[in-house]
Amino acid sequence: MFDLEEERLVAEITGRGARRILIQLPDGLKAEGPRLASRVRAKTGAEVFVSAVSAWGACDLSLDAASRLKADLLVHYGHNEFLRDGSNGVPVVYVPARSRHEVIPVVEKSLPLIHGKTIGLATTLQHLHVLPQVEQFLSEKGFTVHVPGRGPWAHDKGQVLGCDYFGLRKIQPQVDSFLVVGSYFHGIGAALSVEKPTVLADPYDGTVRSLDSDRERIVRQRFAMIEKARMANRFGIIISTKPGQCNPQIAMSILQQLEEKGKSGVLLYADEVLPEKLMDFADLEVFVDTACPRLALDDPERFPKPILTRDEIMVAVGAWTWEQLLERGLVRL
Ligand code: SF4
Repeated sequence: MFDLEEERLVAEITGRGARRILIQLPDGLKAEGPRLASRVRAKTGAEVFVSAVSAWGACDLSLDAASRLKADLLVHYGHNEFLRDGSNGVPVVYVPARSRHEVIPVVEKSLPLIHGKTIGLATTLQHLHVLPQVEQFLSEKGFTVHVPGRGPWAHDKGQVLGCDYFGLRKIQPQVDSFLVVGSYFHGIGAALSVEKPTVLADPYDGTVRSLDSDRERIVRQRFAMIEKARMANRFGIIISTKPGQCNPQIAMSILQQLEEKGKSGVLLYADEVLPEKLMDFADLEVFVDTACPRLALDDPERFPKPILTRDEIMVAVGAWTWEQLLERGLVRL
């Protein structure tokens, strides 16, 4: 159900004269890895490695692994460019993996849930190619549609990323509500970034839902988490070594602000932030995540202790008010 652009991939490899390739696929596409590897080997004669570790986003490029394996090309599926090519000299080919799932039927199903007649419409990279079709369909149904512009990480008009809903926030004053076409992960990310009613149309399972009550529940949960952090004294500030999530300067600034408030903290680094690994730091009361903001927001119950985003800790130390945090949106990298 996804276009893996195999002909383009073979042409890229041949055109660049690459002899050793590392292929990264998101978990949902990993099963395609062995077939892709044999096809590429047969067509190009190149040696192919398929990454067996997670690839959460384009922030998660396996540049170090590619370098260690002496690969001369990294092929990254499922996301578009996030970092500039070759920050360690390894060129990257991005293949978006466009979805072939039908979109119009699920958008039609979502119509009764939509608030108002002026809507903000966005989707993920996988469905961007059908966005004009969706826009036209909605216009024919009497809606005025606004498509957001690019954000810092979402490079295309109409696109949202798990940590970039900047475009939606920008068009918020012009719309009554939002419609997101994609998975729950992107839908709830959007809902947490805006204050207007948000509906999800999910082409993968054909379901539609309003995300407003989920947003309210998560916002309450985040408020409670920040209150716990205000009372705590010992903090672990997590830095990820993933190329697009590595923010040591921000982590050090947070540590300084905590210390100015008479609290103590330690800088922790990890490639993958795993709850079970954090359990080893038994003395720490609260974790602050300076890596992917969705770690803290989506599944806080997976973590043994409260975990805050780097923006939420600003409220806990008194640098921002809760209202200022909501104005900026809960999801930002
Ligand atoms: S930081 Fe998180 S949400 Fe943003 S692209 Fe990476 S994995 Fe996705």
